[in-house]
Amino acid sequence: MFRRLALPLFAVLLLGPLAACGSADSGKPTVVASFYPLEYLVRSIAGDTVQVEDVTAPGVEPHDFEPKVAETAAIADARLVVYSRGLQPAVDDSVSQNAQESLDVSKAVDLTDDNPHFWVDPLRMEKAAVAVEKRLAELNPDHADEYAANLATLRSTLQDLDAAYRTGLRGCERDLVVTSHDAFGYLGRYGLRFAPITGLSPEAEPSPKHLAQLRDLIEQDGITTVFSETIASPKMADTLAHDLGISTAVLDPIEGLQKGSTDDYASLMRANLAALQKANGCPGAKVGS
Ligand SMILES: [Zn+2]
Repeated sequence: MFRRLALPLFAVLLLGPLAACGSADSGKPTVVASFYPLEYLVRSIAGDTVQVEDVTAPGVEPHDFEPKVAETAAIADARLVVYSRGLQPAVDDSVSQNAQESLDVSKAVDLTDDNPHFWVDPLRMEKAAVAVEKRLAELNPDHADEYAANLATLRSTLQDLDAAYRTGLRGCERDLVVTSHDAFGYLGRYGLRFAPITGLSPEAEPSPKHLAQLRDLIEQDGITTVFSETIASPKMADTLAHDLGISTAVLDPIEGLQKGSTDDYASLMRANLAALQKANGCPGAKVGS
């Protein structure tokens, strides 16, 4: 019995001081976020009072992401898993089976038509932020004041974004936006209509009939731009735009950061606004940018 224990015990003693430098033994509770916008919320509110891990790595498309051994272990070991049911079915299953404690943000953000992409709407993001702060304060009550202050800052960032979208998308020449997948529906609050090439998940294939309808719509409405994405393949959007002799530009669904990106949720939201203003001929658009 002793012989069988000896090696692991030795390994633990040897690794102990090393591990203390890293995340595992920092003494801070680990909070796992299932994809980037939730990671942004947790980091913005918790600062460095918790160890934040994102199960969906930069550059990985979150919809069909399936947790492997490492991510499953992270979900099982976390003090709290913050996720949004309906976006990542495989993560939802793993959270149900493995998580000790979880917060399902989808319950706080008033989803419509089963559309999981709530975060493109800064006011739904604000509702999610309130829910995340409440749970973090329960998890780590010693830092409750700090979390309340950080939430206030975050709410003003999100409200500023809402105001920028409201004024920035007023009086545009067009209101129709052609996108790759159906990730932007919640921006309808700013008077935009969306014609996605594929459905709620980027992997769906559009039918020839749907593509023909899109072409008609694009010509009818004088659409200048077909938007592709950052992480999912731009092939469909490029083909459509090329066939019709119009432009492509990037509209980021902010489902994840690209590898090495220095952007964050707020900067990507502002870049999206500028791209929408330019494509739709809005008064405040920066010409030639
Ligand atoms: Zn999506």
